[in-house]
Parts: sequence; structure tokens; C-alpha cells
Amino acid sequence: NYVPLSPVGFLIRAATVYPNRTAVIHGDIRYTYAQFLERVRRFASALKARGIGRGDTVSVLSPNIPALLEAHYAVPMIGAVLNALNTRLDAPTLAFILEHGESKAVLSECSLNDVMGEALKITKNKPEIIVDIIDPEAPEGPRVGTTDYETMLDAEGDPDFRHDPPVDEWDALALNYTSGTTGNPKGVVYHHRGAYLNAMSNALTFQLNSRSVYLWTLPMFHCNGWTYTWAVTAACGTHVCLRRVDPALIFPMLRDYKVTHMCGAPIVLTMLIHAPDSQKCEFPQRVEVCTGGAAPPSAVIAKMEAMGFNVTHMYGMTECYGPSTVCAWQPEWDDMPLDQRAPLMARQGVAMVALDGQRVADPETFEDVPPDGETIGMLMIRSNTVMRGYLKNPTATAEALKGGWLNTGDLAVMHEDGYIEVKDRAKDIIISGGENISSLEVEEVLFRHPHIMEAAVVAAPDEKWGETPCAYVTMAPGHEDALSAQDVIDYCKNNMARYKAPTKVIFGPLPKTATGKIQKFVLRSQARDL
Ligand code: ATP
Ligand code: MG
Repeated sequence: NYVPLSPVGFLIRAATVYPNRTAVIHGDIRYTYAQFLERVRRFASALKARGIGRGDTVSVLSPNIPALLEAHYAVPMIGAVLNALNTRLDAPTLAFILEHGESKAVLSECSLNDVMGEALKITKNKPEIIVDIIDPEAPEGPRVGTTDYETMLDAEGDPDFRHDPPVDEWDALALNYTSGTTGNPKGVVYHHRGAYLNAMSNALTFQLNSRSVYLWTLPMFHCNGWTYTWAVTAACGTHVCLRRVDPALIFPMLRDYKVTHMCGAPIVLTMLIHAPDSQKCEFPQRVEVCTGGAAPPSAVIAKMEAMGFNVTHMYGMTECYGPSTVCAWQPEWDDMPLDQRAPLMARQGVAMVALDGQRVADPETFEDVPPDGETIGMLMIRSNTVMRGYLKNPTATAEALKGGWLNTGDLAVMHEDGYIEVKDRAKDIIISGGENISSLEVEEVLFRHPHIMEAAVVAAPDEKWGETPCAYVTMAPGHEDALSAQDVIDYCKNNMARYKAPTKVIFGPLPKTATGKIQKFVLRSQARDL
């Protein structure tokens, strides 16, 4: 009687229990769960008729629109592997991923076809099937395919298609590349079982239900939208698509669609906070926001709370299918004034202990660090939602999974109360005169300055101390010239241990990954030449 776990089952169930509930909204388009499932069946059967089957990779390059969401069900429905591509990659990186993942089919949304066209030109083993996605909500772009998505669904799709369940819940269902914050992206293989369990855990943690309205401010390509592509459907909620993260679109959507939930890296929160007042229309409901992927500064959380959002902070990584832990909401925080509860919520990079298994240990001896809030160790995870390995990279896999624990590459301390506090990526920590300086801790203080919008602190070489903290700072709009480098240094010296204060400050925009994370390795190499 064994039935393998698979997130495809979430859609079948939703379409059975709530066939007439709105599943997807995109501009003027509305699909009920029955219609959504029918479109997915057409898509899956058309792929199958064209020879795509078990284990084949299907790559999709698209903003957050229905076709990409449908791919999350149609591709695994026939046992194939969904490779959702990062929409901000350049052509050579896209070509690298298409080759590395051995894509047999590519679907590409027309606004991205210039870069996809370039990538296909330089890909040696070309995918057999190339399909254009034409979004009625966007101007028509160039074509690279032999057909378009809607025509394929209409002409080749079978609305009554009955799929086989996956042979095994350990079959691959997705291939996701890491953000490339520290170097080249690595391909992480997701299995039906892990994706199912992570989506369930997300639905519970975020308290999604059939009345939830989820706005897609997080890219669906990033760890499959941190598995919310499946979690929202598991809860039978409504997906509201969004092509572009733009406060001028987001605020009216919060109001008009009565959005209840959304997610995003801290940069999305920063954008909302600094949006011009003319864009910030009122919305009556409080909106649940889940943020992570990088440490959200407590000042950012406090400002979001004041604007009408409830912020949940989580820690996660591609290797864990997205969210891995959360800073759980404590009921007594409800009654606290905002300025008291925001720092508790943030505790800057603090995550609740282990949804499954988490520890802070020495990565060589595997001995736990003492729970003193001071001794730094490596955050290690063992759980049902940890990857089994990187695609075609046995060396990186063996290194990451040594001893049966995922070595996250993140340094942390264990507090007495069982809270884990992420201090820094091992690659980002600054060692000055033998002292460890957490770049996140210095950034946390910089973010508290009312005129600073963004900040990143990296190591710069220093003759005397070995390394010294160097701050890269973006000022808030309207306050571009409010501070000099010396003002920033003095502000830091007054607000932290003096040895942690940056000795160099550079103003300007910060280099980011497509998921909105600051690429400190780029800044570090710039800081080398200062
Ligand atoms: P790459 O592995 O390619 O260098 P990446 O590590 O940024 O890129 P992701 O899997 O998107 O790729 O990000 C996971 C990492 O993001 C974690 O290892 C951690 O360093 C950071 N991170 C995630 N959530 C948090 C958080 N709440 N606080 C601090 N850091 C976080
Ligand atoms: Mg990583």
C-alpha cells in the first residue's frame, strides 16, 4: 500500500476538495483549481507526447507567471526534472546550466529570449524541444522556439491525462542552482519526498490555509520559491503572480487582492520601506511576511512591522530545499510595543533550534560548541529536507555532507536557551588582530542609522591587523550626501566595540545576485586594492 510522497499530489487534492476556488491570479487571468489542474495535465501530456519522460531535465526561464507555476506540477507529473532558471543570469551562465543539467526541453518567456537566444547559440548539446512562453501581461518579445506554450497546450495537450505516480519518492523532481554568492552556482538535486516535506513544513510554519492569498514577491526559480510553489497549493490557497518586484505594483496588490502572505529576501523589505510615499497605499489587513536568505537587520524588521507587516525570520539554503528553521513567533510578543519586539524577532540571524536536527559544532571533530552564546562553530544540519548531493560534483558533495551532516558553511553560536545565532559565512568573517568580527553584526548597526539604506562589511587587508573591516554603504534616497566616511566610522565607534568599527567606508550601489544578495566576494576583491 505504499504511496510515494510527491508535491504533485497537493494539486490533485486541491482540485478535488476546492475545484472552484481561485488557484492562480495573473492580471486579468483567473484559474480555479480545476482549471489549473487541467492546464497542468495538458502541459504534462504534451511534454510526454514529445518524448520527455522520467529523469529528463526540463528548463524554464520565466518571471513569476502561471506557466512557471504550472511547470512545477506538469514536469514532475511525468517523472521529469524541473530546472527553473534564474532570470538574471547572463548567457554564458545559462548555457553552462543547460549543458551541465543536460536539458532536453527549454521553455522561455519572450521578454527573456534575447539572453536565452544567446545562450542557445553557445550551448553545444542543444535541447530537443524549445517553446516560447507569451505572457498576455507583457509586450511581445523575440521568439526562439518552434511553438508557443498556449498553442502547445491547446493542440497537443490531453485534459484527461492520467499520470503515473513517481516510481519512488527518492526520484529527482527538480534541479536548482545555488545563488552563486560565493562563486560558481552548484546544482542541487531535489527529490519528491524532500520537496513534499519542506512544503508541508512551510505551510504549517507560515499558517497557510485555503483562505490564504500569497503574493509572489519571491522568485519562483529560487529553490522553487522556497517550496511555496507547492506549499500554497498544499493549503489550497491562492497564488497571485507578479512579474517584477516593484513597490508601485505591490502596494496596490496588497490592498486589491487582500493579500495575506508574501516572502522575500531582506532587499525586498528594504525596497518597500524606501518606496516613495506616493506608492505606499493603505491596506487594512496585516500581511505576514517571511524573510531570509540573508540576515534581515532588526531595524528593517521594525520598520516593516510599523508599516503593517508581521515579519517572520527564517534561515535556509538551497541545499535544504529553502527554509530550514524559523524564529518562531512567541505569543507574548503580541502585546509588546514594536520597538521591543522587533529586536526579539530579528535577534539578527537567530533561528529557532532545529525543525529536524541542527547543531553548532566543530566541523572536524564534530564536537558541539558549549551553549555560551560566544564560542563560534559551524552550523550543521541533518534532516529530511537536506539534499543528497550536488549534480556531477562528488568532491563538493563529499565536502558538504561529510560525516552525515550538511556543513552549511555558516558560522554560528549556540545560546543557553537553545537559540542558534548565525554570525557569518565562514568565507565572510573578518579576522582582525586575531579577533573574529562578524560582518553581520557591524551591518546590523549600520542599518540602524536612519540615512543608511544598505550596507555590506568585508575584510580589507591591513598591514598591522592582518584584516580590517571595510564598509560599503548605500545611502537612502534623498540623503545621498548626509554622511561622510568619517561620520560613518565615528557612528560605528560610538555604537560597537571600537575594534569592530570599519576603518574604511566606500559609498555606492552594491553588487547583488539575482536573488538580491550582496556578493561580498566581489567587494572583497575590490577592497584588496584600496
Ligand atoms: P552559493 O552557495 O552559490 O555561494 P548562496 O549560499 O547565497 O550561494 P543560497 O542557497 O541561496 O545560496 O543561500 C544560502 C545561504 O544564505 C546560507 O548558507 C546563509 O549563508 C545565507 N542565509 C540564509 N538565511 C539566512 C539568515 N536568516 N541569516 C543569515 N544568513 C542567511
Ligand atoms: Mg551556499
